[in-house]
This record gives sequence, structure tokens and C-alpha cells, in this order.
Amino acid sequence: MKIHEYQAKAIFAQFGIPVPKGRVAATPAEARAIAQELGGKAVVKAQVYAGGRGKAGGVKVVASPQEAEQVAERLLGKPLVTHQTGPQGVVVRRVLVEEATAIQKELYLSVVIDRARQCPVMMASEAGGVDIEEVAAKTPEKILRQPIDPIAGFQLYMGRRLAAGMNIPANLARPAGALMESLYKVFSARDCSLAEINPLVITADGRVLALDAKLNFDDNALFRQAEVKGLQDYSEDDPLEVEASKAGITYIKLDGTVGCMVNGAGLAMATMDAVLLMGARPANFLDVGGGASHQQVQEAFKIIMKDPSVDRVLINVFGGILRCDIVATGVIEAARELGGVRVPMVVRMQGTNRDEGKRMLAASGLKVALADDLKEAARAVVAAKK
Ligand code: GDP
Ligand code: MN
Repeated sequence: MKIHEYQAKAIFAQFGIPVPKGRVAATPAEARAIAQELGGKAVVKAQVYAGGRGKAGGVKVVASPQEAEQVAERLLGKPLVTHQTGPQGVVVRRVLVEEATAIQKELYLSVVIDRARQCPVMMASEAGGVDIEEVAAKTPEKILRQPIDPIAGFQLYMGRRLAAGMNIPANLARPAGALMESLYKVFSARDCSLAEINPLVITADGRVLALDAKLNFDDNALFRQAEVKGLQDYSEDDPLEVEASKAGITYIKLDGTVGCMVNGAGLAMATMDAVLLMGARPANFLDVGGGASHQQVQEAFKIIMKDPSVDRVLINVFGGILRCDIVATGVIEAARELGGVRVPMVVRMQGTNRDEGKRMLAASGLKVALADDLKEAARAVVAAKK
């Protein structure tokens, strides 16, 4: 789950990370009033989940409340296209109006999980700002990495090491180290998958300040992060993913054409691999879950069929707690509701009530190819022509 910059900055403030003074506005008039409160000079920043706003004209320094209003007028209600949004862009619904900062230097700081080391790692660079991707690609040695033992937590020496490696002046090493420790605390206490400050700036008057803020959260921890969950805004998510999440189905849209309906995350991954091995690409990851009802299967099937890029479907079920006849009922009900299935369908069923499930599908009048093992099923679906 993602949140907006202004929300991330509010969390930063709770943890003692210095952020610029400012507030969020939904109308140009509000933006003007906030700029007025801040003394006239301000920065107006489009609030969208995508990064790359600076280069796309989504971040503007303004010299007066009037100008803040004009910039807000230009941004609000219109799509912002950045290198992370795709060509259609994302509609800006809010802008953050902040006091303008005179910048001496732009640095980079983040915490992510290092899967290879199996622990959080703090990444830092003295070359922060809008070109960090280029720094990572061309001069990766400019990015420092500090693994953090999750039991011991962030240590003072780590802050000193990173601050020195980032060429932070000695008199700022202490506040910079404190800021790093706080960022790690946010990451750990809020179950983040990413906590990033880019740029972390040294201001002209010699302070460290988080000028940008990005927090992503581990969806599996949201049950214990009520405050974070309350910030969830579905308007920027894929509509089919939102629909699936409301139905309790794990669904992730991908770029291929083979719609996959599977029970169990591991089996879903194996199914996607099998499709890829046979030479086609999955349109989605979909796990209906172990104890799905036929209504959930029905919802899942409808979600797959709503994706216009799907040109064939592979249903792979290993009946355990979820019985094969339940899956058959769900698929048949969905097909009835949709007035038929517009693409070729291959079904592989094994496990509890397999024969009953297969009999139901065969008797349904739907055009289904039945298969017994996964390889055979994947081969059949890849060979199926629309
Ligand atoms: P992003 O491009 O979406 O990551 O948006 P950022 O919040 O990182 O802003 C992009 C760039 O705008 C920063 O790297 C800064 O160079 C610039 N910027 C943002 N706020 C200020 C400010 O208060 N003063 C000045 N001078 N530049 C700013
Ligand atoms: Mn940024």
C-alpha cells in the first residue's frame, strides 16, 4: 500500500524527522491561503503516488500566494504524466503547499528490505535528487548500503559511517544520524516495505530536512496498522485490483494475455511459470485462497473476464479445503451471468471432488478443455487460438 507525500510527512513529523512547514490543499483558493500563511513564497507539489513529479512539472516554487493559486489551478483536476505513470498520467486531486527551502545540497536516504541479506538495509547517497535512478544505473558506487540487524536496530556507528560516506559536514553528523535512526524507526514501527527521502537536503542555513517523503507499506501487516490503513486511497489503484481486494481475492494485474485462476499462492506462481515455459505470458496472478466460496470463485472469474487483454483462460485447481465442485459452480455461475465465455478455457482439476467438478463443467455446455496435469494444461492453453 502507498500513501501520499503529505501523509508520509505527517508520519515523519510524529517520529521527529524534520519536514518543511505546510499543508495540503484541494482547491486553488486553499493553496493561495496556505501560501499566504507561509509568508508568500512557497512550493506547490502535486500529490500523486508516482515519483518523477519534479521533472514532469508537478513541483513548482512560487513567489506569491497569487502564483500558488495559479499553479494549483493548473495542476488540480488534470492528469500529471511522469516517467512512472504511463502515458495517460494520474489525475491530481490535491497539492501540498509548503514553505520554500533554500537548498545547499540534495542527498538520498532510504530503507528497504534486502532480500538476499534477509534484513533491512539503509541506502544513502550524496548524489540525491531527481536523477537518483541515473546515479544507481551509472555510478552505483555512489550509493552506500548499511544492513541493519532487525533485533539490534539502528546503531550510532551506522549513522556516523553513512554521514561520513555522504560527505555530510561534521557539525551535521549528529542531527543526520538522529534523522537516520528515526527513519529506521518509521520503517520498522509502521511495517514499511520502503521508506525514502529523496531529496534529503542540507539547507542553505545548515539544517538537515526531509524535502520529499515516500512510504510504502507491507499489505500483510495492515491488520496491525489501523492508522496507516485509514489512509488508503483506492483512486490511484488498478480498478480490477481494488474490486478483487474487496472480494477477498489476491489479484495482481500483469502484462500478458493468459488469464489464470488458481487456488493457493505457490500453485499460482507455478502456473504462471508453466505458462511462461510454454511460450505465453500470464495476464494476472490470481489466488482465490484456500477456503474460497463459490461466490468468490464467481467474482474472481468475472474479474479475469473484465480484463480486455485476456484472450484465453487457464484454471488450475488443487482441491483441498476448496473443493473442485465449488470451483465448477463458481465458474458456471459467472459464465451464466456474463452470457458465455468469450475466450478459450482450459481447466485442470485435481484433488477433492475432482470428478464431480469435471462432470459439472462438461455438462454445463461451456466450451472447456479439461486436462489432468499442469504441463498438459499449460501447453493446451498456449496452443488455444482465440
Ligand atoms: P519528485 O520529483 O516526485 O521526487 O518530487 P520532489 O519532492 O523530490 O521534488 C523534486 C525536486 O524539486 C527536488 O529534488 C528539488 O530540487 C526541488 N524542490 C522541491 N522542494 C523545493 C524547495 O522547497 N525549494 C527548492 N529550491 N527546490 C525544491
Ligand atoms: Mn523526490
